[in-house]
Order: sequence, then structure tokens, then C-alpha cells
Amino acid sequence: GSSFVRPEQTRVFTVANQKGGVGKTTTAVNIAAAMARAGLTVLVIDNDPQGNASTALGIEHGSGTPSTYDVLLGGSTIADVVQVSPSSDNLLCVPSTIDLSGAEIELVTVDSRETRLREALRAYLVDRSRSGLPRVDYVFIDCPPSLGLLTVNAFSAAAEVLIPIQTEYYALEGLSQLLKNIELIRAHLNPALTVSTILLTMSDIRTNLAREVASEVREHFAEQTLRTVIPRSVRISEAPSYGQTVISYDPSSSGALAYAEAAREITRREAPSSTTTTNRDGQA
Ligand code: ADP
Ligand code: MG
Repeated sequence: GSSFVRPEQTRVFTVANQKGGVGKTTTAVNIAAAMARAGLTVLVIDNDPQGNASTALGIEHGSGTPSTYDVLLGGSTIADVVQVSPSSDNLLCVPSTIDLSGAEIELVTVDSRETRLREALRAYLVDRSRSGLPRVDYVFIDCPPSLGLLTVNAFSAAAEVLIPIQTEYYALEGLSQLLKNIELIRAHLNPALTVSTILLTMSDIRTNLAREVASEVREHFAEQTLRTVIPRSVRISEAPSYGQTVISYDPSSSGALAYAEAAREITRREAPSSTTTTNRDGQA
């Protein structure tokens, strides 16, 4: 636990990749759970209508449960809808329900449609500090596999992007599109946004292909890519069906140890400088 570093201020990550099934949700919940286990206060915002992050964290998210939808479109605050994970008092989750599946379209016609999550998160973090609650150290926003308004809201609310990349043949396909979209967000909505972290996931470490993909990613993203690689592990894929992360389901498994090490690495790297010298409006 002692080797996890508490950040000087809240670090907000969007976990994004417009490909489905690359390990976004698994990464968001397991990194969050590993940090919470080490004593940090962590908030996961489930921003995907599929609600997989809510499921993995053991959070109630049946239709009608107060959720991300109500924050984006119903005038609720995050404090109104946030739940505590059964595995840890300091692991919080804003659940997603099936109601969120209409949000992508409903958002189109509302005011400040790109920045609703940012405003809600900002207000929540300020309110917590006013009411003397422990500061949230890390926020992870789990995104759907698309670059629509839900993902735009996440990019506007975060300072950092964490991209999970599967070590398989088409791994880098689509990445340039993702980076182009992030550039557009920086230009128009959130100049502080930085791709700070890349995590290689679901790796069959013994195969040549996995090694080749890993070294290609490291060549392109030397600073961003974590040293830790997440192996393919049955325990990781089993955990959600028990409403758990692999961190609580089987803490000594190879998958849990790898996610804990990746989480530790993130806490030991500094936040990108733009997040410490400017606020999210880009003002000094
Ligand atoms: P995404 O959120 O990008 O769609 P998920 O995190 O849901 O991807 O992962 C897709 C599937 O792969 C899920 O069934 C998940 O349990 C499984 N999975 C993710 N990471 C691993 C891993 N390291 N080893 C084995 N299965 C994994
Ligand atoms: Mg997902």
C-alpha cells in the first residue's frame, strides 16, 4: 500500500478507445479498485449505457436507479446518485442504467451539451471539500465504444486520457482517429486534455505477435505506455459475473497483481504539467 502515491489534487481520467471489447471497462474498474484498496478515494463514473462498470463494482443499476443519465439530463447532482461499492468504503460509483442509451440523442438539443458532465463533476468535487469529506484522489470515466456526445462529455470533464490497447493484430487501427478526435476536443472544449497513459491489455505474453504489438506501441508512445502489461486471465473475465473486480475476487491472481502494479505505476507518475499549472479552462 505505501508505494501508492496520493496526488496533490484530484486526477480525472477518461478511459477511451472507440473499439469495443479492448478492456476499457475492465481497466477502469480494476485500476480504481486497486487504488481504493491501497487507501485512495476513487470515483468511477459509468458513462456507458451497457453499465458494465456498475456491474463489476457490484452497484445497483436497474432501470430507474438514479444514474449518470440523471446527472446529464435530469438535473441531478453527482452526490444525488453516487453509490459506495460493497467492496470498499472509499470506492464510489455513479451507475449507468439502460436509460443512458437515449442520452446520446437527447443531449443533441440541450444547452451546453458537451460540458454537462464536467460541470457536474466540478461541483461535486467542490461540494465534497466544503462539506469536509475526504478528497477524491482519482476519477475514472468509463466510456462507450463510440466517439459520440457521451464520450465528448467525458473528454471535456477529464485532464487525462487512458487508452487500453489490446496486443493483437489490429490494435493500432482506429487509434489515429481517436487521437484526431482528442485534438479536436483540445482545440474546442478542453485544452488541458492529454493522453497521459496507455496500457497494454489482454496480452498472450508468450506470443510473438503480442511482443511485436507491444514494442510498436512503445515505439510510438514511449512516455505514455505503462511498463506493466495486463495478461489474458480467466480470473479477470470471471470476476464481473460475481459483481466483483478481480482485485477483490482473487487478489493474488496474476491479473489482479498486474492491475495493482499498473495502478501503482499511474500513481507514481506525475500528472501532466498542464493539469497542475492551469485549470480546465486553460487559465493560469
Ligand atoms: P470494453 O469495455 O473495451 O468493451 P471490456 O473491459 O468489457 O472491454 O472487456 C471485453 C471482454 O474481455 C470482457 O468480457 C472482459 O471480461 C474480457 N477481458 C478484459 N480484459 C481481460 C483480460 N486481461 N483477460 C481475459 N479477459 C479479459
Ligand atoms: Mg466497456
